[in-house]
Amino acid sequence: MDHPLRRARLGERLQELEIEALLVTRTPNVRYLTGFTGSNGQVVLMPTSAVFFTDGRYTEQARHEVPDVDRVTYMSEFPEALAERLSGVTTLGFEAHDISVAAHGTHTAALEGVTLVPTERVVERARWVKDEEEIGLLRAAQEATDQAFEEILDRAAIGMSERGLARAVEDAMRRAGADGLAFEPIVAFGENAAEPHHEPGHRLLREGDVIKLDFGALVGGYHADMTRTIAFGAPSPELRKIHDVVRQAQEAGIDAVRPGVTGGEVDAAARSVIQDAGYGERFTHGLGHGVGLEIHEGPNLRREGSDVLPVGAVVTVEPAIYVPGLGGVRIEDSVEITEDGCRVLGAATRELIEL
Ligand code: ZN
Ligand code: ZN
Repeated sequence: MDHPLRRARLGERLQELEIEALLVTRTPNVRYLTGFTGSNGQVVLMPTSAVFFTDGRYTEQARHEVPDVDRVTYMSEFPEALAERLSGVTTLGFEAHDISVAAHGTHTAALEGVTLVPTERVVERARWVKDEEEIGLLRAAQEATDQAFEEILDRAAIGMSERGLARAVEDAMRRAGADGLAFEPIVAFGENAAEPHHEPGHRLLREGDVIKLDFGALVGGYHADMTRTIAFGAPSPELRKIHDVVRQAQEAGIDAVRPGVTGGEVDAAARSVIQDAGYGERFTHGLGHGVGLEIHEGPNLRREGSDVLPVGAVVTVEPAIYVPGLGGVRIEDSVEITEDGCRVLGAATRELIEL
């Protein structure tokens, strides 16, 4: 990963943000700028230099992972260590969405003569656009996810529990090369598929159930996110119809993804298909979100959302219809935004699979 380039690009932006330095505290942002994968690290970014801070547990790890940045290991409190390295800085930006009121108080007390300036998602915004290496890792994560999906199609059987199938999905992703899970898989059978984020339980699989699977592999810190809803035996006519509507809505959404459009416009393209079919009230969440170092990041494809999609962003398109008592269907893919539209990362069919 080209961490120096990322730091240089952000360093160039400090002036327009009217700060002399930026304190980066959110873990995925620290990773993005330095490559550090530990749980406690901070970066102070200046126009042409940076300082990395961590505690004694991570000194050795930081030496390997962050070889190209000036490093400080602190033994006491971070704000004191920070104060020692800020000479000459009078305006310090901080991540207002990450620093608690209490932390803001201790920083203010320790940093005499420094004005703390709130900033909003500066590094997150830079992370929207993925470079080639990041796209490669997202593809690898998606491939492991696709492979796991193929494998578990053979595993679903009458009497299996949601938890059992969730475990099978996890094992299959690890066998397919995942470093870990992007998130705990969602496995919902039958009527449970009406809950968008159902937690797998003891419900046993029966003939005629839908199986909703939302899962993804983690590779090199990058998250895959895919949902398929399949039928175990013949589904009811209404669920078959719902699947068809959601599939068409997803296609309309994917067709609408191109650079320069807003997330809200893409959401509307998919949502109108569901509304026209009479299920508008049953699609209860936004159409999608960015994926990368976090499972949910920008840009956001929500209803009336104003995020403008850039080339190189990777977003999910995940329309759904949930009918309490009956079940639900969600179909989700991640797409990479290209110059003339988008490219779907996954390879799994979006047609209704009947096992
Ligand atoms: Zn998902
Ligand atoms: Zn998602």
